[in-house]
Amino acid sequence: MKVGVDLGGTKLAVGTLDGPLSLRPTPDTAEGIVAEVRALAGEASGIGVCVAGRVDVSTGQTAAANLPQLDGFPLAGALEQGGVQVALLNDADAAALAEHHLGAASGAHTSLYVTVSTGIGAGLVAAGRLHTGAHGQALELGHVSGGPAGQPCPCGRTGCLELVASGTALTRQARTNLNDPAASPEALAALAAEGDRRVLDPLEAAAQALGERLADACILLDPDVVVLGGGVVGGYGERYLTPLRAALTRALGPWHVPDLRVARLGSRAGVLGAILALEQQA
Ligand code: BGC
Ligand code: ZN
Repeated sequence: MKVGVDLGGTKLAVGTLDGPLSLRPTPDTAEGIVAEVRALAGEASGIGVCVAGRVDVSTGQTAAANLPQLDGFPLAGALEQGGVQVALLNDADAAALAEHHLGAASGAHTSLYVTVSTGIGAGLVAAGRLHTGAHGQALELGHVSGGPAGQPCPCGRTGCLELVASGTALTRQARTNLNDPAASPEALAALAAEGDRRVLDPLEAAAQALGERLADACILLDPDVVVLGGGVVGGYGERYLTPLRAALTRALGPWHVPDLRVARLGSRAGVLGAILALEQQA
């Protein structure tokens, strides 16, 4: 039996290809994470693990800003003990693989998956296979330029796209505009539905910034399908998709505009993709 694990900053999800998903809070130490994953994986012959941050498959380590307890930790090696097969990959890469084979991008030749939530992540599947790059760090779309020049990003660079276009960034700006630091994502979505510019302005700015960088990515990678996942499209729907599609189309000009689709696998995508990654590795 093969098990998939999706390690997020706050939640850890574990499941099989067709079983239910079990959710736990992410332990706050690396050792705690290893113990929890091992306990949940039981007698599994393979564990696919995806992480909400950069992975380095050449060392089996993660450098995850969203999971500081795993920074520099040799996660793959720690889980491998006992002869179990381990695949370590980025969360958006896993979701890209799952949406390509089992979800919104089925039938695509080259699909680019983008998730916009706490951060921004992406993954590319071409002719059925994931493009990971030499270290597993390809398609870190949240960390290309496009954010406020000079502003430091937790990744160590400055001016990264996710500083303006992530769910975190737009929520922060909307709360500032509303003068309500505790406004919930649901309350913000309800205000957007009423046409409140204090929420729509940062939402549309985020869509515009992502759309422009997404156009660059399309010119570099030529996907026929782009799948959009994550909490922002889930919460705001067309109010986010319409300006995003417009910015993408405008920035691409006469170039091929990909088919922009909404992700279908929801919170299962990471777990399913981590299991598929085990199969691609074998
Ligand atoms: C991280 C990516 C991750 C994305 C989505 C970003 O902040 O840098 O590695 O894929 O968030 O979780
Ligand atoms: Zn960055």
